[in-house]
Amino acid sequence: MLGSVIDAIGNTPLIRLRRASEETGCEILGKAEFMNPGQSVKDRAGLFIIRDAEKRGLLRPGGVIVEGTAGNTGIGLTVVAKALGYRTVIVIPDTQSQEKKDALRLLGAELIEVPAVPYKNPNNYVKVSGRLAEQLARSDNSGAIWANQFDNVANRDGHIATTAEEIWAQTNGKVDGFVSAVGTGGTLAGVAIGLRAKRKDVKIAIADPLGAALHSYYTTGALKAEGSSITEGIGQGRITANLEGFAPDFSYQIPDEEALPIIFDLVQEEGLCLGGSTGINIAGAIRLARELGPGHTIVTVLADYGTRYQSKLFNPDFLRTKNLPIPDWMDRTADIPV
Ligand code: PMP
Repeated sequence: MLGSVIDAIGNTPLIRLRRASEETGCEILGKAEFMNPGQSVKDRAGLFIIRDAEKRGLLRPGGVIVEGTAGNTGIGLTVVAKALGYRTVIVIPDTQSQEKKDALRLLGAELIEVPAVPYKNPNNYVKVSGRLAEQLARSDNSGAIWANQFDNVANRDGHIATTAEEIWAQTNGKVDGFVSAVGTGGTLAGVAIGLRAKRKDVKIAIADPLGAALHSYYTTGALKAEGSSITEGIGQGRITANLEGFAPDFSYQIPDEEALPIIFDLVQEEGLCLGGSTGINIAGAIRLARELGPGHTIVTVLADYGTRYQSKLFNPDFLRTKNLPIPDWMDRTADIPV
């Protein structure tokens, strides 16, 4: 029996991805982060950020946690906050999926939607959340903190302490490579630090969507972004504190046209319904498998569950507006005679 929902965070299984493994001759394993109580990898960051603030004496009972988030961190923070007696105020760009906004409201977060503008704009969601936290810290009697997932390394520490340890134990130390996309960089840099401490030559790869600047940074030294992606929660344009001191061994830029068919096939062929960032992750794992050759064990992250994107990624009308490939089964009405 678990003491509370918080104890259900982490210790997620590794699931063998059959087709990716068969096609590459490697073992490609997905860390099933969608099985966390908030249904994403960001529960870990939420837990470690709140526990770190408590250790520093920054949170009091009834206190408020403010955060700017594409949604999943807000969900993770709110699950943990509710279990511990805190409140959350979540600032989200209005471009994020309705399902994530609904989940946040359902969980009891106070949700503030803002127009999606670039980071350099003072009205960017991250900056709005920082200012709001300062205001609330002054005016709210119970106190307020800014979770600041991008530049708060409690996020990365959580992955060093838990995700990397779990991957090492679950593979009996036989992990040859790890790949993931970056939102804050907490997952990629944290797992890289944790695994490299155990095995110096483990290969770490970043899978970057179009519209992000990190692939360009790690291959040419310049932060440059081109194109766009419908994936959510990933695609970074700067070196966050969580990424400081980190460098990958390999960098891949993955177009949506490569990532999304993987997600669609997983639903139909392997019973796994996952979000778009996971498609970028698995495409990256396949590229690393081809780079290293058959016989290697490569781990990536199944970052969140697909129902979170039913109105977008799994909606043929939405895909059509983006000129993205639509699998036959998605556009088909039931053809079984009744
Ligand atoms: N995938 C999804 C669906 C996410 O919400 C996030 C976090 N924003 C990530 C991947 C990236 O994780 P991280 O912030 O640890 O880089």
